[in-house]
Amino acid sequence: MVTSEVLAFDFGGTKARCALVSRDGRLGPTRAQRRPPSADGPRWLARMLDEGRGLLAEAGPGAPRAVGVSFGGPVDDEGRVSSMHVAGWEKVDLRRSMREAFGLPCLVDNDANLGALGEQRFGAGRDTAHLAYFTVSTGVGGGVVLQGKVHHGAHGIAGEFGHIPFRPFDLAAPECACGKRGCVESLASGRAIAREGRRALAAVGRPAPDDLTAEQVFAAAGRDETWALGVRDRAVEALAHAVASVLCVLDLPVVVIGGGVAQAGELLLGPLRGRVEDALPEVLRGRSQVRQAALGDFSSLLGAAALAMED
Ligand SMILES: [Zn+2]
Repeated sequence: MVTSEVLAFDFGGTKARCALVSRDGRLGPTRAQRRPPSADGPRWLARMLDEGRGLLAEAGPGAPRAVGVSFGGPVDDEGRVSSMHVAGWEKVDLRRSMREAFGLPCLVDNDANLGALGEQRFGAGRDTAHLAYFTVSTGVGGGVVLQGKVHHGAHGIAGEFGHIPFRPFDLAAPECACGKRGCVESLASGRAIAREGRRALAAVGRPAPDDLTAEQVFAAAGRDETWALGVRDRAVEALAHAVASVLCVLDLPVVVIGGGVAQAGELLLGPLRGRVEDALPEVLRGRSQVRQAALGDFSSLLGAAALAMED
């Protein structure tokens, strides 16, 4: 029986989970819900609060002492959230809602920052107090942990690795969701890899399906197909630029790569490590490790648990 230290929530764009988590990061009872398309932020929150109450009732005595919440969108200093994808979240004071529902202290942060904290506390960075975490999925995001704490920066934007400029003045570079050109996200995200994959297939006269995925590009790279290796290597260059830039600024011992695209494992990590080393100045070369995330889809949920334990 796992002794529940905290109650953790993870609100993503399409699904949410809550779990009781022990001091050493073991997941106790966990509940997950897909968001019904009709549910706005407040309705979905009410549903998840019910799930949380259900977990506590199930767990019986030895109640958790705090609540931690990961949210897939911007979070301000007061724990208020907003979302570009789900209506109604802009009115929600998530921290206060949790406090009132459970009578417990609550801390809230965004999913990328908590992915970083989760990996540092319980995952691929357990042996270090400082790391950068890159999440490479549909987009590219990240977080920085220094001295075991999330580093937010002056405006809460620290760790936006996807918008590190790689080819910002190149008019031939793709536009980024942020409105600039040639950001790392526009060249190395899952969406970008799929787009470049279609382009590369068309260029060699092969069918280029509209629904081609980054996963399929990596699978083809694993079969040594030239078009896919080229796409992979160009994405790796952009990502290596970001990783090396972060290492030059922060001199970190560990960089963790997570998110759906990182599921490609050594097909991504192998060449990435090589390119990072090639890009770094002599003083930094060979001194930092680039590791695959260890917690998979649970980095942010366990990061929310780690955050609650700080309270
Ligand atoms: Zn951008």
